[in-house]
Amino acid sequence: MKEKRQKKLEKIKATNIEEYLRQLPEPPEEHAHELKMEKYLKDLIEKQDKSIKILSLIKKEYPEVRKTALKHHNPFELLIATILSAQCTDKMVNKVTKVLFEKYKTPEDYAKANLKELQAIIRPTGFYRNKAKFIKAAAEKLIKDFNYKVPRTIKELTSFLGVARKTANVVLSNAFGINEGVAVDTHVMRLSERLGFTEEKNRDKMEKDLMTLFPKERWFEVSNLLIAHGRRVCIARHPKCNICIVNNLCPSAFTFD
Ligand code: SF4
Repeated sequence: MKEKRQKKLEKIKATNIEEYLRQLPEPPEEHAHELKMEKYLKDLIEKQDKSIKILSLIKKEYPEVRKTALKHHNPFELLIATILSAQCTDKMVNKVTKVLFEKYKTPEDYAKANLKELQAIIRPTGFYRNKAKFIKAAAEKLIKDFNYKVPRTIKELTSFLGVARKTANVVLSNAFGINEGVAVDTHVMRLSERLGFTEEKNRDKMEKDLMTLFPKERWFEVSNLLIAHGRRVCIARHPKCNICIVNNLCPSAFTFD
């Protein structure tokens, strides 16, 4: 137990501690840094324990949630579906990809696709001109730089036009089981704030906080479980706090009209 806690402390020390320490008031003692460090670690461990408890309760509610709801047959199709999911529901994306994946199979098919035809198919997902451009660019880059294989690092994936960390994380975790970060979409942002996981507003900073709070092997499910809970219970306008499994732990419970 002691060893486990020690390991946890070591891991925490490697996080954004300098930033946290700067925000604390200056203690009068000469060992100010050590005191601040002690408080930081104590606070963080408490927050981690509470956050993990919340996630475990949410997991019990959605035992069926294992992977993204975006339908795909291979990593390349998942990359396309994730590009299409920006500002669009998974339900609509799945409807569109049913037709799209039937017509185009390989990266070459997309690279050679007639732009107008591609745009017409994906139009219901919104922002279809940009999305068509991103999809064609992704197919071309896959052929040219990656020998037709979707790369397995955030650095490589975010080198694709229109692919940011969220898309890269969705692809890495769902297609390859690689936890390099937490996919932060609008549901994850909203719930992370409401549940007190972060006070940040910036997506990348929120992701960093989530990566600090949860063990690496759970980063994948953090995203998928918060999305599920955000869709069914903690919805944007009128969250259903009265039926929420974590309402006794949530700092925002029953604070909405
Ligand atoms: S208690 Fe309310 S605000 Fe908190 S997670 Fe549940 S539904 Fe969302």
